[in-house]
Amino acid sequence: VSARAVVNATGVWAGEVDPAIRLRPSRGTHLVFDAAAFGHPSAALTVPVPGSTSRFVFALPQQLGRVVVGLTDEDAPGPVPDEPEPTEGEIAFLLETVNTALQRGLTRDEVRGAFAGLRPLIDTGGGSTADISRKHAVLESPSGVLTVVGGKLTTYRRMAQDAVDAVLRARALTAGPCRTADLPLVGAPGHRDSAPLPGDGVPASLTARHGGASRAVLDRATVARPLEPVAPGIGVTRAEVEYALTHEGALDAADILDRRTRVGLVPADAERARPAVEEIVAAHRA
Ligand SMILES: Cc1cc2nc3c(=O)[nH]c(=O)nc-3n(C[C@H](O)[C@H](O)[C@H](O)COP(=O)(O)OP(=O)(O)OC[C@H]3O[C@@H](n4cnc5c(N)ncnc54)[C@H](O)[C@@H]3O)c2cc1C
Repeated sequence: VSARAVVNATGVWAGEVDPAIRLRPSRGTHLVFDAAAFGHPSAALTVPVPGSTSRFVFALPQQLGRVVVGLTDEDAPGPVPDEPEPTEGEIAFLLETVNTALQRGLTRDEVRGAFAGLRPLIDTGGGSTADISRKHAVLESPSGVLTVVGGKLTTYRRMAQDAVDAVLRARALTAGPCRTADLPLVGAPGHRDSAPLPGDGVPASLTARHGGASRAVLDRATVARPLEPVAPGIGVTRAEVEYALTHEGALDAADILDRRTRVGLVPADAERARPAVEEIVAAHRA
């Protein structure tokens, strides 16, 4: 396959696709708690890391009745794993730090789940990973591959704009003006498919997740008992599982539990939800 331009946008794996790119991956670990452990908070806690003037541990209320505590910033040299694992040392650090702000300390037994990711930081030499810039960069390597890397989820539109602009410049291509800043996401007010929120009887968690697409989630559902949760106490409906398959590209139960919803962040919840999810996946394939 030949192309006029090749863009490498593979995040922390960018150096595997183009060896000219040098990254310094940094692992960030989060812990998942029941919201009850924090007294069902409606605001976040920001806890200074003892001995540092610039680092904090956050406790953030999340959907599905959880609070997430994070996060660490640890050098993660070597081959990039598909799924980075939190270490016991990081779990202890997060517990100790958040406990400095709580009247009753949280214990290891209250940790319902833990997960980690690798930040694709650009290697700028020595120092702590916490001090490396989170700014993104668009780099052209001697082979001509353009790489967009670094950055934040929150800056994705700017990253995409800068990458496309760099391709246009490097290959002398023409294009209309960039429209990304004004494009509403699916479910956002102003998106062409957005509809008014459905009324009574529809779980608030469904409308919080799908916004203007909530009506479509319900109207397109063919599954039995669409508004029933996938398991008692887990606020994801059967209709949303079907919608993940029909409209969000999910292929299997893991896609739904781990990637379209965040049920899988608590392994025990994933096991309870799995039978209903697998039943809907099987019916969809039939
Ligand atoms: C622990 C942690 C906490 C973070 N917290 C925040 C935060 O609070 N706020 C914020 O704004 N940002 C945050 N970020 C940063 C944010 O997640 C990343 O900057 C962002 O995901 C980078 O987007 P990307 O598209 O460049 O890479 P990615 O999101 O990693 O996407 C790259 C994709 O390429 C795919 N891929 C890899 N290799 C290949 C290949 N050979 N062929 C095809 N596909 C391939 C991967 O599967 C992946 O889907 C955090 C990151 C981490 C790790």
